[in-house]
Formats: sequence, C-alpha cells, structure tokens
Amino acid sequence: MKLLEDKIKNEGIVLPHNVLKVDGFLNHQVDPQLMFEIGKEFARLFKNKKVTKVLTVESSGIAPAVMTGLAMNVPVVFARKHKSLTLTHDLYTASVYSYTKQTSNQISISKRFINKNDKVLIIDDFLANGQAVSGLFDIADAAKIDVVGVGIVIEKTFQKGSQIIKDRGVQLESLARIKALNEDGSIEFD
Ligand code: 5GP
Repeated sequence: MKLLEDKIKNEGIVLPHNVLKVDGFLNHQVDPQLMFEIGKEFARLFKNKKVTKVLTVESSGIAPAVMTGLAMNVPVVFARKHKSLTLTHDLYTASVYSYTKQTSNQISISKRFINKNDKVLIIDDFLANGQAVSGLFDIADAAKIDVVGVGIVIEKTFQKGSQIIKDRGVQLESLARIKALNEDGSIEFD
C-alpha cells in the first residue's frame, strides 16, 4: 500500500533491536485518514471470507481494527491485557510474549463477545515473531471459532511471524512488508 509505505519512509524511525517507531501515525498519535484507507483495504482483501467479527489486541491494534470493522460492517473485539485475572471462567485467556516490552502478558477476551459460529479476522499493527497473533489463535481455538484471515499493517518479513500463520493455512495480508531495518536508519521494503 503506497500511502502507508510513503508514511513509513517519511516518519518511521529505526530503533535498536529491529524496532520501527511509528508513533506519529499508528502507535501513539493516530492518522485517522490513513487508518480509514487501511480499513477499506483490509475489507477489500478479505471480502470473500464471510467475516463476522474483527479481533485484535489492545492498544495499537484497535485503530486499524475499528476502521476494518467499519468498512466490513462487523463488530470489533480487542483482547485486553491483564496483570491479575479474576472471574477467569468468563474469559478466554492466552499468554503473549511482547516483542517490544520483552515481558509476558496475559490477554483475555470475554466469552460474551465470541459466539461459536463466528468467523473472525485478526488485525494487528505489527507482525514480528507472531506471538500476539498466536495468542489470538489460542483464544480462537479455546472458543472453537474459525480464524479466516490475518491482516497486518506492518510486517517485518525478516522475523518469523508469518510462518506461524502459513503453518495454520490462514490467509495473511500485510499492507507494508519490511525486509530490513538498517543501522544507518534506512528502511528496506520487500
Ligand atoms: P509479535 O507478537 O509478532 O512478535 O510482535 C507484534 C507485536 O509487538 C505488535 O502488536 C506490536 O505491538 C509489537 N511490535 C513488534 N515489532 C514492533 C516494531 O518494530 N515496532 C513497534 N512499534 N511495535 C512492534
């Protein structure tokens, strides 16, 4: 998606440990017009999948997920990150190792918001090693629902996340694919 690649080229900052900072339009300040275009693009790419719900993880997945839900006219549910859990019988939970924070989080979704006939589309801001998406797969499996696609705003193709999604046989669409983040600050696209 050219609009997104241009935005990354102009505003993305390469940090140590292969982290790309895009807090000017995605991870802190949000560019609604760009998110709207992203939502429409995911809706186009997954239009034949009969999606009934969009699933993401708080907080940075919410903006692109909501715009996708708007474009597809389906609800959006975001997994919450909890430190301590009560009422676990009402929740589906999974453990997710955070790439940027280097800590494990429990993520959870209320059973009230997942129905057994749901066909869900997972949306997230970044794909690195696939831990966040794996956690959502675990929740989908516990709830016995179908994951029909994974939409990623920025995939770092030099990390291994896409393999987990391919192994599951689920359609993966990434709107920007980065093959290298260089020490001189340059960003190479696939
Ligand atoms: P994964 O679970 O695939 O290893 O990592 C994905 C999650 O880590 C994303 O939800 C995102 O919040 C965060 N993340 C991974 N890599 C980056 C990065 O390069 N930049 C930013 N801003 N977040 C990242």
